[in-house]
Amino acid sequence: MTVHRADVAIVGAGLMGSCAAWQLASRGLSVAVLEAYEVGHDHGSSHGRSRSFRRAYADPLYAAMTGLALEQWQRLQDESGTHLLTGTGGIDHGPDYDVETLSSLMAAHGVPNELLSAREAGTRWPGMRFETDAIFHACAGVFDPESTIVAATSLAAAAGATILPTTRVIDANMMPTGDVALHSAGGDQIIAQFAVLTTGAWLPDFSSAVAEFAGNSEPVLPPLTIRQQQTFHFALRPGEHALPTFVHKNGRQMYGMPSGTDVAVPAMKVGCFHDGDVTTTEVRDQHITDEQRQSVVEYVRDWMPALDPTPLAESSGLITMTPDGDFILDRNGPLVVAATCSGHGAKFAPLIGSMIADLVTGAAQPTPRFQLDRGASAH
Ligand SMILES: Cc1cc2nc3c(=O)[nH]c(=O)nc-3n(C[C@H](O)[C@H](O)[C@H](O)COP(=O)(O)OP(=O)(O)OC[C@H]3O[C@@H](n4cnc5c(N)ncnc54)[C@H](O)[C@@H]3O)c2cc1C
Repeated sequence: MTVHRADVAIVGAGLMGSCAAWQLASRGLSVAVLEAYEVGHDHGSSHGRSRSFRRAYADPLYAAMTGLALEQWQRLQDESGTHLLTGTGGIDHGPDYDVETLSSLMAAHGVPNELLSAREAGTRWPGMRFETDAIFHACAGVFDPESTIVAATSLAAAAGATILPTTRVIDANMMPTGDVALHSAGGDQIIAQFAVLTTGAWLPDFSSAVAEFAGNSEPVLPPLTIRQQQTFHFALRPGEHALPTFVHKNGRQMYGMPSGTDVAVPAMKVGCFHDGDVTTTEVRDQHITDEQRQSVVEYVRDWMPALDPTPLAESSGLITMTPDGDFILDRNGPLVVAATCSGHGAKFAPLIGSMIADLVTGAAQPTPRFQLDRGASAH
């Protein structure tokens, strides 16, 4: 049995764990990262080559966080020397938006934006179809989550962090010393002053441990729903120009962004938020049904004339939902729990890493809406 010691042990090296490792190691703490699979695997939520960065939030908490996240993206790019975030601009449209209110809220958070009629939007982006007013903000973009994980873990390793792939943690206990003891499936032990759970959809596996650290015999994790989310890549037709990142709310929520290097030709990734099957990490199968595929193909055919509606590639990932849609980011004694739930957390990853580091070092208190015991009154 090997015994590793560190100031902080991070369980899970997806976007959140890798960014936490970078932020903690850069503050001079010794860090060990334990990842059940190879770093960069495709079983969780952070694989693929494109995620959207958007600032079109009506909720002031998340709107403010997008600005802070942008600063941390810049820092991660500067320190790693890696270009991660590419500006594309972002469009929000559809009858389920109150674009005027959203525009004012974004402006109040310092996000310049333009309101366009359907006709103006259609003239500007003839590769998309509009039936309602649209809102455009130029500072939206797209980033590559796999390169982000590489950049963050490389910086962490350069600052002395130990990255332990194929190390599945099966147990977390408080030791009499107040340290945390983690045990791996391979029989290793990791002893740390603090442990951070960034296990994404696997967080329910640690329900008992989270309760134990909270000094509670009852579960303290909110009930989490895990869904498989599928996305499809569609080539731009010859002569068509790249399109912005977009969200279209018309009874359901469609979204899309440039595909990045997921496919070899200029393309857009398109998906339907919330149409994935409820699953668990044990039984999920990454199977995409004909019905799910056809629904997105028909959307592209109807709304995106710039795209060839035959999918070039498709992918499935896990989305973890809390009942209220808010993230989990809390600390009980030496245990920090961080889950960016509800399918929109990637854009915040470098900021979440910083917020995790603040909780570990005591530089900040948990955000009330992200606390485990927030209850119904937190909103
Ligand atoms: C298809 C899809 C599209 C998305 N699009 C966007 C978008 O455009 N914009 C946006 O902002 N967000 C988006 N999101 C959300 C975003 O990608 C997630 O919020 C983010 O990836 C979550 O990262 P994570 O590190 O929490 O989870 P994960 O990436 O799943 O990482 C958790 C890690 O923990 C490891 N682990 C679990 N259990 C153990 C254990 N016992 N021992 C050791 N390791 C363990 C896992 O192997 C995994 O590597 C999307 C999500 C999906 C699925």
